[in-house]
Amino acid sequence: MYDFAVVGVGPAGARFARRAADAGYDVLALEKGEVGTPLACSGHVSTDIWEYVPDEARDRLFQNRIYGANFRVGGPNSKAYPFYKQSEVSNVIDRVELDRTLADCARDAGADVREGHTVTAVEELDDRVRLTVSVAGEAGTVQFEAKMVAGCDGPTSRVRRALDLPEPSETLHGVLAFDPDPDDGDFVDVHLTVPRFFAWRIPRGDAGVEYGLAAPPGAEVNEMFDALTSTYDVETEHFCSGAIPIGPPDRTTTRRAFLVGDAAAQTKPFTGGGILYGMTAADIAASTIDPDDPETLSAYESAWRDELSREIRLGHLVRRCYSFPEWLQRVGLRSLSGEIGVHMDKPSSFFSREHLKKLL
Ligand SMILES: Cc1cc2nc3c(=O)[nH]c(=O)nc-3n(C[C@H](O)[C@H](O)[C@H](O)COP(=O)(O)OP(=O)(O)OC[C@H]3O[C@@H](n4cnc5c(N)ncnc54)[C@H](O)[C@@H]3O)c2cc1C
Repeated sequence: MYDFAVVGVGPAGARFARRAADAGYDVLALEKGEVGTPLACSGHVSTDIWEYVPDEARDRLFQNRIYGANFRVGGPNSKAYPFYKQSEVSNVIDRVELDRTLADCARDAGADVREGHTVTAVEELDDRVRLTVSVAGEAGTVQFEAKMVAGCDGPTSRVRRALDLPEPSETLHGVLAFDPDPDDGDFVDVHLTVPRFFAWRIPRGDAGVEYGLAAPPGAEVNEMFDALTSTYDVETEHFCSGAIPIGPPDRTTTRRAFLVGDAAAQTKPFTGGGILYGMTAADIAASTIDPDDPETLSAYESAWRDELSREIRLGHLVRRCYSFPEWLQRVGLRSLSGEIGVHMDKPSSFFSREHLKKLL
């Protein structure tokens, strides 16, 4: 029997598998497809990302350096309100390669990472969990047992549903596609033209330019996406889409299971970004949970909330501004734009006394 079975090998699952294996546990990590695919993510992250990957991976992953964002309440020809730093704010990275690199780190640490393994059922017993798994290219199913299961299986988590854990407060629908023309510009564009969220343009260096948006369910995302690319007058390719969970459920643990990453909606409500929050929570899980002691799950539940809840709460506040009437958005953007001193994963840095004083 394994100590931990990890369902899903995205950033959260790979990171947890690596850290738990580093701690000497027997770890099985199951990924339904091929690690990193299909792509449904911009890979726009703070420079903290480099703490999670080996130095030698940097050249392979890095695509562009970003110094700020041009906010607009209309299309590309409307007035831009720039927010920027003199130093880089964030990087654009190859997201598929990130997942592969993180999975390799988990393998190197000793985790048994298996692709083409889809978990179809999860059963929680008194002293163990039992997973039913369908293996690509094989008939029937196989079963695996572990002392605990980590649900790192993304926004529509099967583990969450199988164990009757509550759902995130909200799920947005995100779409993106690429124009292959290289662009190593310093700014991303953010258009507050979408209900309760935004549309974006991200220069990705030699990998081209990404256009995307996210919106609540029911919004006509495809039509809004066509409107976005036609205002830029570009043809895009490799269209992809994915779900973005916002607002963590009240409970992310059971007696022998815990959720990490998008499965637990550990995301930034004002950008939808979840790569770094998910890996932060994965590290917390690996350092707090003992598979022989189910009581330690409550330590994880409170530790990840202690670390991320305040940022998530403040992130909700920032997101509310996206729904202000246009005139108020203009007033806000005009008065706040300029050089900023914030960390993109930490809305608390925006609300810090030091930064507010600078703005005033
Ligand atoms: C359009 C869009 C743009 C985004 N842009 C950014 C961005 O720029 N920066 C950022 O930080 N975040 C971004 N995000 C969010 C980011 O992609 C997620 O927060 C991140 O991928 C969460 O990582 P995870 O490991 O929790 O889940 P995932 O990356 O979703 O990984 C879950 C894994 O579980 C696997 N899986 C699912 N079910 C099963 C099963 N039953 N059995 C086995 N395996 C299973 C999946 O195949 C997947 O590999 C974006 C999301 C979208 C939709």
